[in-house]
Amino acid sequence: MEKQELICIMCPRSCRLTVSGSDGSLAVEGNMCPRGHEYALSEAVHPMRILTGIMRVEGIKEPLSIKTTKMIPKELLLRAMDEIHKVKAKAPVKAGDIIISDILGTGADVVATKSIK
Ligand code: SF4
Repeated sequence: MEKQELICIMCPRSCRLTVSGSDGSLAVEGNMCPRGHEYALSEAVHPMRILTGIMRVEGIKEPLSIKTTKMIPKELLLRAMDEIHKVKAKAPVKAGDIIISDILGTGADVVATKSIK
């Protein structure tokens, strides 16, 4: 691996991070705390993201905003959105309701982030 430059997104300080080395021994520079070190290694080896989006609700025009309950592999984000677009939520929905369990076997649930009556 050549050098990879990143901005840490774990807190508002937004440290500029550099990851270098090979998979067996990666070095991180620029982090002000251990969370940045962890984030940079995760980004270099296997990036993960919280998925956020909207989905349709049966019989209602207003879309439902949703998110995953934990980070999923970045390479699965588009497939996960495809799965979400195949489903329509059923009103009433409360914020926090699970709409899809264990999406794509990631262990993350897709939950509503707002309520719809
Ligand atoms: S390295 Fe630590 S201090 Fe810097 S942005 Fe990341 S979490 Fe914040």
